[in-house]
Amino acid sequence: MIKRVEINYRGIFQKTLAKKIGGDIVMIAARMGQVGFSNGRYSDAPERNGIPCKYFAFVSPDLSEEELEAECGAKLDIDEANISVVLDDTMVKGVEPWAWHGVRPINEKVVPYGHMLIVSRRRPEELVRFMARKPFPYYLAILEGEASFAGLWVYRDDLTHERVLGALAALDPQLLSIEAVKGYLWDKTHEQHRVDTAQQAFESVRHNVHEVTPAQGIDWPYEIPKLPKWNEFSEGVVVKAVPREFQLGPKGQSRNQLFKRGTTKSQRPVVRFDLCTKCTLCWLECPDECFDPTPDGYYDVDYEYCVGCGKCAEVCPVQECIVMVDELAFEDNRSPWEHWKQDPEGYVRWAEEKKGKHRVLPNVVTGTGGRVVEVEPVPVGGKPKPAARAGG
Ligand code: SF4
Ligand code: SF4
Repeated sequence: MIKRVEINYRGIFQKTLAKKIGGDIVMIAARMGQVGFSNGRYSDAPERNGIPCKYFAFVSPDLSEEELEAECGAKLDIDEANISVVLDDTMVKGVEPWAWHGVRPINEKVVPYGHMLIVSRRRPEELVRFMARKPFPYYLAILEGEASFAGLWVYRDDLTHERVLGALAALDPQLLSIEAVKGYLWDKTHEQHRVDTAQQAFESVRHNVHEVTPAQGIDWPYEIPKLPKWNEFSEGVVVKAVPREFQLGPKGQSRNQLFKRGTTKSQRPVVRFDLCTKCTLCWLECPDECFDPTPDGYYDVDYEYCVGCGKCAEVCPVQECIVMVDELAFEDNRSPWEHWKQDPEGYVRWAEEKKGKHRVLPNVVTGTGGRVVEVEPVPVGGKPKPAARAGG
């Protein structure tokens, strides 16, 4: 028997965290007399910042090391997961992890009565409303907390690692017992707060598991792509070149139609077109060329391409004109400019509701955290003011 755990994480920023979790599952399972094996799917390339990636851990009580590795080591993805861990809840909108060949449901691999463990501050129904309907029941467990993001390959030691291990013990004591988790953490660190944190997560997740029925979830809106077989490629060509455009103008950017990176974002920019001064900076500076010039001189955002980097909000010189907002506040990728043109006042009300009243201003000195400020919405017809800047 093999138990499969997949750890969904955002490339680079959560890579070291996911790797530590996967590796420690193996080490703890070994303490329980089981055999384990862990591997990961690529996420080292710098352009993969934010992309959904996976680490895996496989545990067996009865196979040899060689048998387990032969069974699990040679594949880049798994067919099924007993437990699917999700380290950033915005991935419930879908992940496009493997060679960019389509947006897949986050719960795609979960088996009947298997578990999803999501780090989130949201209620289960707020997450399930984005997830694909499954033909069988499974369980959704919430590990309360914020997504733990670090810089590039850096590990942020905020105890998410220990909390996930404790939570896994709550979901499947045969996979990892809480005693084995605590013993391992103590022997490894001799730090009692790490042991206590795992225990607290174990207790809290035990009371935070919810059954998801086949009636819950959505019909998956994305086509599940079919990869070509080796004998279906054209002779002499491995992958056909992708047509690119080089004209300026609406939808005429040099974007690759087959390389949309929208699932990498955990936030998206909300634009107040009525405050926009048409300065062009967002369009010039967006690293993914997500802005489309409109016939009336504004810049529309294509959210299918936006990676949520926040650069447009940084460079926009107008206060409250571009604000980054949590991705789970949005149901679709429709054009904000078209929305505004159809219903200017309704759009502003919608935008302000999404933005809320609190903004985080990063401090200039690295490591000192951000400042949360409260803002008053700029009314329709309000005069554009210069944007407040970090440290200002
Ligand atoms: S957040 Fe702004 S700058 Fe970054 S990819 Fe999205 S639209 Fe472009
Ligand atoms: S940066 Fe701001 S003000 Fe300038 S064009 Fe973009 S949205 Fe308008």
